[in-house]
Amino acid sequence: MEKFKLKKSLGQNFLIDESVSKRIAQFSEISDDDYVIEIGPGTGALTKYLIPKTKNLICIEIDKRAVQVLRREYQNLEVLNIDILKVNLDEILPRDKKVKVIGNLPYYISSQIIFKLLEYSDRIDSFTFMIQRELGNRIVSTPNSKEYGILTLAVLMCGSAKKLFDVPPSAFNPPPKVTSSVIKINFNNGEFDRKLHNFIKVAFNARRKKLSNSIKSHFNSSEDYQSFISSPTLSERIKEMLNLRAENLSLTDFKLLYENIKSITGE
Ligand code: SAM
Repeated sequence: MEKFKLKKSLGQNFLIDESVSKRIAQFSEISDDDYVIEIGPGTGALTKYLIPKTKNLICIEIDKRAVQVLRREYQNLEVLNIDILKVNLDEILPRDKKVKVIGNLPYYISSQIIFKLLEYSDRIDSFTFMIQRELGNRIVSTPNSKEYGILTLAVLMCGSAKKLFDVPPSAFNPPPKVTSSVIKINFNNGEFDRKLHNFIKVAFNARRKKLSNSIKSHFNSSEDYQSFISSPTLSERIKEMLNLRAENLSLTDFKLLYENIKSITGE
């Protein structure tokens, strides 16, 4: 494969351990009529193992030099030379079938890519990707842990996530400073709810405060807030939650709290 000077600014840590590429391709569970999108194919370390699995593969790569290498190597491959964060996915994602998305993601924008895909959860079947282990741990964490937060709950809103395996720095050229993890999200839980997401964000922005304090900003007046927290119709679970912190609440708890507050504020 042709070589060029790798750009750190584009998160170009290319996979050199072929066994990792093979495993990611296997875990993606692609069958030949699946629509597949690969984000950041680089010069094809992973693409090579996706091509034999499906005829419907689209690659999205920002670096023109990598695009040229891929187009030369694989004449029938569809490679879009665009920025994944700028592309209108509505125009690319098929309407008749859910797509499988795969990628060894550029680490400087991994979270942004994940959030972008969550917005299209109804048109995506699964997302198998490699990211920094630390970020992966945040995705698959559970309540009451320090990794649990906005990202965990945003992903849970749309599906279920699991960590598949860790990958050491030696599997890449150049080796990154940190260990990586391969994560798979199955989009099987519903659509991303932006309002609920914003509600959760407010709670985590005041992570150390009790919910009774951090929910205040949702009310139009202190009278509304007071009448909510002293309402005789509040369920026992909501009363409990008011004494807890954001990290103690499950997604179901957040939904319950959000719906109850919304019924008062109307927002
Ligand atoms: N898939 C290859 C591999 O495993 O060897 C390359 C992975 S490398 C970690 C990330 C790739 O994402 C690079 O090829 C980089 O050029 C590309 N990339 C970086 N920013 C991007 C963006 N905004 N949109 C699309 N691709 C991007």
